[in-house]
Amino acid sequence: AREHVHYFGAGPAPLPTDVLEQASRALLNYKDKGIGLCEISHRSPDANEILANTKAALANLLDIPDDYEILFLQGGGSGEFSAVVYNLVSIWVEKRRARAEKELGHVSQDKVLERLRKEVEDELKLDYLVTGSWSLKASQEAARLVGAQHVNVALDARDANHGKFGRIPPESEWRLTPRKQNGGAALAYFCDNETVDGVEFPFFPQSLEGDDAAPVVADMSSNFISRKVDARKYAVIFGGAQKNIGNTGITIVIVRKSLLPPVSKYASADLLRALNLPVGPVVLDWPTIAKNNSLYNTLPIFDVWVAGQVMSGLVQTYGVKKISGQEEISNEKAKMIYKTLDKYPDVYSVVPDKSVRSRMNICFRVGGGDAEKEKGFLAGAEKMGLLGLKGHRSVGGIRASNYNAVSVEGAEKLVAYLEDYAEKA
Ligand code: PMP
Repeated sequence: AREHVHYFGAGPAPLPTDVLEQASRALLNYKDKGIGLCEISHRSPDANEILANTKAALANLLDIPDDYEILFLQGGGSGEFSAVVYNLVSIWVEKRRARAEKELGHVSQDKVLERLRKEVEDELKLDYLVTGSWSLKASQEAARLVGAQHVNVALDARDANHGKFGRIPPESEWRLTPRKQNGGAALAYFCDNETVDGVEFPFFPQSLEGDDAAPVVADMSSNFISRKVDARKYAVIFGGAQKNIGNTGITIVIVRKSLLPPVSKYASADLLRALNLPVGPVVLDWPTIAKNNSLYNTLPIFDVWVAGQVMSGLVQTYGVKKISGQEEISNEKAKMIYKTLDKYPDVYSVVPDKSVRSRMNICFRVGGGDAEKEKGFLAGAEKMGLLGLKGHRSVGGIRASNYNAVSVEGAEKLVAYLEDYAEKA
């Protein structure tokens, strides 16, 4: 039964039991209306209330300033790999178009287009910091959409010998597109926590700070609401709900309002086509989603409700703007697991560098990566009710995901098993 199991899967991941209990009731009979949450209209007053409450809970938790918009979309984190390219390239182009018109004065549209073609060819760059398999995937999607010549991999953190991730080299080694007036790169992208490789940025990169920096995009799919975030440093933060926030089905995007109309303008589809740049699907178009309060098309309101319950629960536990309470617990759980792993260097080896160890996805090898030993380790864990510990298929090994709903008790049980296994090894 549920109370005897601790699940360390990387996502989908555990949810608070009380939220699931309420959810099962809400599925059948929401607010005693005789109808369930999956059955009501996404445009009903109830749905609107859910949407507003969930937004408010997130804004409260992370202290999101008023000049940021919170959007709910579908398509997962992967959908946003594409969306960031469509949206930010469009903004970059429109800025360049406005500048060209201003500088060229009254000339024909052909002349403007000619100049823009040249600027796109010479200057359109999307900066990616590749620190693990998810940022790698995001950069590959950008290359697929706009062409590899426009993607500047400012950092490829793979080990030169083994091709493996596990470190974040110093910023002095990154090759970001130089800043310029009117914007250098169309975006600077990083994945705050690499789920597969267990690499987490310990802090916000200094070289992405400042008003003249490219718009910063961060994928927080696997460390959302697990620590404090200074939203103002980012143009866009996104993540799927299915790890720390809720069940699979919605993606959350926090976007600076100045990137949305009426403040900013996006290039027209005609202009993008004329420049051989991609025109994205309307369901990934942030201005459209924002204008419609995330209800451009049918939003899975049940998923939004679950996320809202989880986040309101955290607000109730820790207080408004007090994500630091959750942060402390996340840190503590991770610390005790790493400490135990470090205590037995002959048995366990943590995969990533000490300075970038993820608090959320703890990746390690048993017996130097011996397949039989790791199989035995996992089987022993399962017997103790410790599930979901198998590493990602692409890297193997063990991965203990330590998301918000993993209890301190669960982490302690894992520590006890790690001790026990190591003593017997
Ligand atoms: N980014 C990160 C950091 C992830 O961990 C994942 C999924 N595990 C994704 C993106 C992709 O998300 P999705 O499966 O929702 O498309």
